[in-house]
Amino acid sequence: MTTSSHASALIDPFGRQVEYVRLSVTDKCNMRCFYCIPQGFTDFEEPQNWLTFEEIERFIAAFASLGVRRLRLTGGEPLVRRNLPELAANLSAIDGIEDLSLSTNAALLRQHAGALKQAGISRINVSLDSLDPERFRQVTRGDLEQVLDGLMEARRVGLSPVKINMVAMKGVNDSEFEAMVDFCLENDFTLRLIETMPVGNTGRDATDRFMDLREVRARLARRYELIPDVMHGGGPARYVRIGGTELRIGFITPISQHFCETCNRVRISVDGTLYLCLGQEDKVEFRPMLRDGASHEELRDAIIRALALKPERHEFRERPEQVIRIMSQTGG
Ligand code: SAM
Repeated sequence: MTTSSHASALIDPFGRQVEYVRLSVTDKCNMRCFYCIPQGFTDFEEPQNWLTFEEIERFIAAFASLGVRRLRLTGGEPLVRRNLPELAANLSAIDGIEDLSLSTNAALLRQHAGALKQAGISRINVSLDSLDPERFRQVTRGDLEQVLDGLMEARRVGLSPVKINMVAMKGVNDSEFEAMVDFCLENDFTLRLIETMPVGNTGRDATDRFMDLREVRARLARRYELIPDVMHGGGPARYVRIGGTELRIGFITPISQHFCETCNRVRISVDGTLYLCLGQEDKVEFRPMLRDGASHEELRDAIIRALALKPERHEFRERPEQVIRIMSQTGG
């Protein structure tokens, strides 16, 4: 009997069921957030090592047949990968995939939002660390105007929910939480605050900007009524709703209150490496198998074997020096 004949096969050694894959379609990005890709970084994956759309589709079909239901396209910046809507359409047609979403910086979203929605992307997360054009440029090297245009287009074409991801940074954007709440209220977006993570040297350097989100939550509670709430999505955010409104705020706290015991995900990088944890080096390279024409059954078996390597938890606090790769290489 091969392992592939097991029904709900993606249970890791700690009893967690994996039903969510985050797929990086490129490690390149059109922004340079100071806590992510280093300035002047050139060590991007060679194009011949990028999984092709056909390879991605076979890989994801194997995951879906093992119970994965949610798929998120990420990067780097996924919209810099050419013909992304074509890939999205093929992935959303895979049997078993019920939820296809996208993480983007939105710089190119105005041009692509309609096609992505048509291709089956239901909802998006957009990084937005500041509403001040100059500060936004300092943090990201990007253009705030383009991002806001992309956001409005996403809303216009009906991508929903639109979640704003804001990395909370002391001395950088900590004067803006209330402004971001108001912006999300006005535009019917969801807000998620994220703690800085020591991922790569850039991420580690940014931890001197770290803010414990329990304190940010307490600060917001002085101004707004925060009612504990839940939100569909499969991710680790703890949500509150602002009383009298539909606005939800999610707190993503990998450092102050890690959520590894409920981890339901794995990550695939653009070169076809399966990472079992954002904060550990455990991984299996699948590109050779995919290029050697592995069958669906062989892929399934290899995925099941790989899952046995999923570590119990990250050690961002205990061993912050641990993760060498930057976020855009793993697929944030
Ligand atoms: N380009 C897309 C985007 O902007 O959402 C997807 C990839 S980006 C790497 C995903 C998320 O990771 C962004 O929200 C970014 O702010 C976050 N990120 C990158 N490095 C981080 C770090 N060291 N700590 C916390 N968040 C980080």
